[in-house]
Formats: sequence, structure tokens, C-alpha cells
Amino acid sequence: GAKRRGLNQVALYRSIATPDDDRRVHIELELRRALQRDELSVVYQPQVSLPTGELHGAEALMRWNSATLGAVSPDTFIPVAEDTGLIGEMGRWVIETACRQLAEWTRRGWELTVSVNISMSQFGDDGFVGHLERTLATTGIDPHLLVLEITESIASRVDIAVARLHQLRELGVQIAIDDFGTGYSSLQYLRDFPLDYLKIDRGFVSQSTHHARDRDLVATIAQLARNFGLRTVAEGVESQAEVDLLTDLGADLAQGYHFSRPLDPESFEAWVEAHLAAFPQA
Ligand code: C2E
Ligand code: MG
Ligand code: MG
Ligand code: MG
Repeated sequence: GAKRRGLNQVALYRSIATPDDDRRVHIELELRRALQRDELSVVYQPQVSLPTGELHGAEALMRWNSATLGAVSPDTFIPVAEDTGLIGEMGRWVIETACRQLAEWTRRGWELTVSVNISMSQFGDDGFVGHLERTLATTGIDPHLLVLEITESIASRVDIAVARLHQLRELGVQIAIDDFGTGYSSLQYLRDFPLDYLKIDRGFVSQSTHHARDRDLVATIAQLARNFGLRTVAEGVESQAEVDLLTDLGADLAQGYHFSRPLDPESFEAWVEAHLAAFPQA
């Protein structure tokens, strides 16, 4: 009867859940050693201006190639890093790596921004601003070329977030809201936060060529951004049809597989060389 089925469901749930738990514990153990073992790296995905396609910047994305687990997706290991507090050290490492990389590209005479993803717990850490300030000083980069990507979850504590964002603004770095419209959506923060970019989530972008509602949503976000003096970055652009539509809808910048996948530094440099040949910088 119903009771029996209930018990069976519990048993079924357990037999499915246990391997997942084991994997998570395994991931956690291995992640603790990932930095020391040199298993982490950073890849860079180009961001271009619309409609010209000129290079604007790059988003730095963490990669983990584990000796025992192989390549693990950020969508899997970032939440583990956040829950265990490991994100603090990993996040500092990404900031330092990205700033050193930006310094090197600036020395080559390339003018581009580098965006770094910042977790909520990292953003809220007392040492965050101090570490960033020291990293800017030691690498000597133009702070304005560094963009910090944060999510709407910071809006859960508007008072704290406003103060912190102003500290960051004083350092001269730029701020982007990542995955805009998918999180803690309060329009209050558009008024109260010092921001530079809204990143339009891939989910809206990929549906925009198929569904009027997604298209209208993208157009509305672009208009909203313009009204607040912000620029929009369309994420996950995979086709020319999307490029054309996003341009029409008023998006300022785009990134996605249509232009390039995230690339290791050497491949990114080759991509930029080829790109600069097509778009010589003045
Ligand atoms: P995100 O910041 O929203 O990054 C965009 C994700 O979309 C990246 O996945 C990127 O590789 C992927 N992507 C870009 N273009 C396309 C496309 O055209 N099609 C498709 N299907 N995907 C595309 P990735 O690298 O797996 O990162 C996933 C998420 O993990 C990121 O989402 C970000 O939230 C987080 N993450 C990655 N690196 C870091 C990091 O260094 N620190 C923190 N805190 N989070 C990170
Ligand atoms: Mg991002
Ligand atoms: Mg995103
Ligand atoms: Mg995301």
C-alpha cells in the first residue's frame, strides 16, 4: 500500500544519495590540496563590443584539474569551496593570478579589462578590500581595468553591501552584477549600489531568439541599464542570430562560444593577436 511505497522511496532515495555524499566528501578532501598541488588554473573568455566585435575585455574563470577526480566543473567545486571556507584562499589566488596576467597584457600594450568572479562570502570577508588593495599595488595595474563580478545575493544585506561597494569604488575598480535577474531581485540596489555593468544571464540570452517574452526581458534589462548609466554584457552568446538581436535590443557587450570559449592564457593571446589583426587598435 501507500505506506510500503513510502518506505521504498526512502530506501531508493538513500541508495541514490550516498554516492553523491561520498563524491562530495572526496571533492572536499581533494580541494583542500588543490592549491598546493598546483591543480588550479585560470582561463579567459573574450568579451567584445557590439556591434563592432572589437575586443573589450576578458572574464577570468577558475578551472580545477584534480589528480584523482579529473576536470571538475566550477558549478560543482565552487559551492564546496564556499561551504568549507576554502573559497577565501582560492579567491585570493584567482585575484592575484588575474591581476598579474592583466599587468603582463598591459605591458604588451593591450588595452582590455579583466573580470573576476567574487563569491558572496569572499565579498563579505573583512580582509577582502585590504587584500585587493595590496594586490593592485604589487601588480601595478590600472584599477579601472579590473572588474569584480558579484551576484544579486549581496543585496540581501543592502546596508553592508553599499558600504563595501563604496570602499571598492574608492580603489578604482569596476563592479558588475552577474547573472542579472536570476537572483535576489530587488530594484533598490540599482538605486543604491555604485555599479558599472549588468550581465544578462545566458538563460535569457539563449531564449531571446525563440521567445518574445525573453526578447522583451532582454530589451527591458538593456533599457533599465541605460537609464541607470550602466552597460550591459550579454552572456552565453552562441550564434550570429543572437548577436544581431542583442545588438538591436541595445546590449553593449557580449561574450560566448560564438566568439570564443574560455581559453588558457597562451591560447587567449593567440586569439587576441588574430583579433587585433582584424581590429587594429588606434
Ligand atoms: P558565470 O560567472 O556566470 O560564468 C559564465 C559561465 O558560462 C562560465 O562557466 C562560462 O564558461 C560559461 N559560458 C560562457 N559562454 C558560454 C556559451 O556560449 N554557452 C554556454 N553553454 N556556456 C558559456 P564556468 O566557467 O563553468 O563557470 C561557472 C560558474 O562558476 C561561473 O558562472 C561562476 O559563477 C563560477 N565561477 C567560475 N570561476 C570562478 C571563480 O574564480 N570564482 C568564483 N567565486 N566563482 C567562479
Ligand atoms: Mg561571471
Ligand atoms: Mg554569469
Ligand atoms: Mg553563473
